[in-house]
Amino acid sequence: ESVDMVTEVVVLGAGPGGYTAAFRAADLGKKVVLIERYDTLGGVCLNVGCIPSKALLHTAQIMEEVKTLGSMGVTYGEPEVDLDKMRAGKDKVVAKLTGGLTALAKQRKVQVVQGTGRFESPNRIGVETKEGRVGIRFDHCIIACGSSPLKIPGFPHDDPRVMDSTDALALADVPARMLIVGGGIIGLEMATVYSTLGSRIDVVELKNQLMPGADMDLVRAVEKIIKKRYDKIKLETKVASMSATPEGIKVVFEGKHPGEETYDKVLVAVGRLPNGKLIDAEAAGVQVDQHGFIKVDGHQRTNVPNIYAIGDVVGGPMLAHKATHEAKVAAEVIAGLPALFDPMTIPSVAYTDPEVAWMGLTETKAKEQGIPYEKGVFPWAASGRALGIHRDEGLTKLLFDPETKRILGAGIVGPNAGELIGEAVLALEMGADMEDIGLTIHPHPTLNETIGLAAEMAHGSITDIM
Ligand code: FAD
Repeated sequence: ESVDMVTEVVVLGAGPGGYTAAFRAADLGKKVVLIERYDTLGGVCLNVGCIPSKALLHTAQIMEEVKTLGSMGVTYGEPEVDLDKMRAGKDKVVAKLTGGLTALAKQRKVQVVQGTGRFESPNRIGVETKEGRVGIRFDHCIIACGSSPLKIPGFPHDDPRVMDSTDALALADVPARMLIVGGGIIGLEMATVYSTLGSRIDVVELKNQLMPGADMDLVRAVEKIIKKRYDKIKLETKVASMSATPEGIKVVFEGKHPGEETYDKVLVAVGRLPNGKLIDAEAAGVQVDQHGFIKVDGHQRTNVPNIYAIGDVVGGPMLAHKATHEAKVAAEVIAGLPALFDPMTIPSVAYTDPEVAWMGLTETKAKEQGIPYEKGVFPWAASGRALGIHRDEGLTKLLFDPETKRILGAGIVGPNAGELIGEAVLALEMGADMEDIGLTIHPHPTLNETIGLAAEMAHGSITDIM
């Protein structure tokens, strides 16, 4: 068979994992080809994930924030929303970033091939491009084909009123009544946006809490706020059936909150499925499990020695910052450097209002596994800064090892929790203890000083607050 291109490294998929791996390999002197089926680089995160969602969430956050100025004597009228402009504004942010990636690829002489790639052997990939099939021969391959929204069999997914996260981000309209199926991060972030834009929101979640994985004391602060904003939050409830009718999407619930309701639109955000089954991995001998995940070792190697995999397709938390770090490991191992993916923690952030962020050991996990811990909690109601921004619902919590006093985990709820958690992640990676954190001089008045204060609370050395 003909080979059109020969390269040292081929990267399959140009999401945060793929483009990072391609750029790192090129920087280390490798000849790199990057395959992407879509017109733009950046994958889910830049095109239909992290970036557009945060652009919309920022807008929603300010729309909510101005309402808090009433107590300072400032009031605004009802906001006028031009949805076309909002969509264009969000698309502009995305275009700027994806365009930047194309320029960065060019700078590094990473050759981008646009089309769907599939393995033909452990050293060949065939790409279906607009101009026809292109055969690429490679020494090393990094699979970074990512994941797609999970669909539920029997739900009318073909009806445009039943949305996945990509549809919801497209912002076609603001439905009067909207159901969010799945109380995880993605569902609740989109609920935040649509609720602020004026939709009446119901959320249905199978488990007994929103944001499964986060500690209840953090989630409770969010719940307190959204219970006022949303119509119903149905926990421990299942969608038994969903059908398209002329009046709307009819949904039958069973479990703790049974019943039947009709919605203008439904967002299904029940998880994501890895794309491992879509690349003919068996032609290369790469093992893919029944869900579509590809197993790798700490060097990101699959069972085939010259083939690596990174990002959502290898499992673990499906997060962009995990994908980029794995990407660097794979590229470096290929270049002969001693790299290993061995983080102490991968932080999680829900960019809801308020934000929730956590890292390392959670209290839930500690209790489940019988891990002893000491806790320092600083309620934001005692923070001058939090009061000044009219947000006293927040909480900063640190968990420590009772013996060594080293930090084990942290959880923060409140505006900017996602920015604040970084310090705790660094503390964990550096092996910082209670005193290290408590003795670090944090600027006053900031939300960030709640981390130092939480450590002092645990240490018993707190003298004054505010
Ligand atoms: P992807 O980003 O999925 O990229 C894979 C790429 O491979 C895609 O571009 C795809 O087209 C391409 N591809 C697949 N198969 C082929 C093939 N056969 N041939 C050619 N190309 C192929 N994570 C965060 O960390 N923070 C957030 O705030 C955040 N928000 C999110 C919000 C939403 C709504 C969603 C859906 C996700 C969010 N995520 C967030 C998750 C994040 O987007 C993913 O973890 C991340 O994009 C995974 O990167 P990846 O490189 O593994 O794969």
